[in-house]
Amino acid sequence: MATWYVWTMDDAGAGGRDMVEAMRRVCAFLQSRGARMTLFVVPKPGGQPMSEEWLSALQEAQEAGHDLQLHGLTHEDCFEFGPPNWPATDISPSFIEEFERRREELMPRYTVPNLRQRIEEGLAIFHERFGVKPAVFRAPCGAISKPMFEALRQVGIRYHSCMYISGVGYEHLPHRSGVIAQKWVNDIPHTPFRWYNDVVELPVLNEYTWRGAWQREQEFLALAKEDASRIAQESEVAVLLTHTHGVGDNLDYAFRLIDTVIEHVRANRLGDFATLGELAANGELERAVRGEGPDILEV
Ligand SMILES: [Zn+2]
Repeated sequence: MATWYVWTMDDAGAGGRDMVEAMRRVCAFLQSRGARMTLFVVPKPGGQPMSEEWLSALQEAQEAGHDLQLHGLTHEDCFEFGPPNWPATDISPSFIEEFERRREELMPRYTVPNLRQRIEEGLAIFHERFGVKPAVFRAPCGAISKPMFEALRQVGIRYHSCMYISGVGYEHLPHRSGVIAQKWVNDIPHTPFRWYNDVVELPVLNEYTWRGAWQREQEFLALAKEDASRIAQESEVAVLLTHTHGVGDNLDYAFRLIDTVIEHVRANRLGDFATLGELAANGELERAVRGEGPDILEV
């Protein structure tokens, strides 16, 4: 069994010039290795139109074969499509208190019509600016709800990606364990799986370039190789996560990490690299589905 590995980058469209530059440089680096990025784009960052700089950078990326998918609508907080979820709560434990404090304000967001309207607004911006319909949705901060899945089904988006197989990529943060060693969850399948409203969830393997990870470089390079080898035994699709602000924290480290994974995958014939858009279009995502996800959402 060969595995399709997918590099994904979140929060494209949001942030200033440094973030645009981080995206551009990582995309160029992937191109130099014959691979492409799947960019999860915030279409209306902070409730404002995307900057001209972001628009042209994303259009250029698209022309170079990188893939644009939908990352919420405004991403103005971490509760846009549901209550806080792990491992965002490992990165920022304060999300739980903040949600409880704002519960009465936030809960009314999670209705099918409201979430559908937000997704449709994002789709309209994608249509107008990029001329594409996204195949995959990734809720900001992994905050999801049952009405979100119904809304995705209604607008014809069949894939979602935010659940994690491993959250070890955040264990270097000061309030975490500091242990950078392989640890995978067992409560969701490690393959793409059918979930609420028949939407297929594409679980995220891990993230190795969160802010500060470069201080533990050797351990993260070793972990990334170990994770890449193991997922090849278990799944035909492996989704790797990065963020604009994570790679931008130390681009040279990000290049070394990405290169290490690419060389490891190719040298060991574990598989090759593709974008989620390609794999949605050619049926590989659907073919990689194994089983159903557990009913774990309260909202
Ligand atoms: Zn995000």
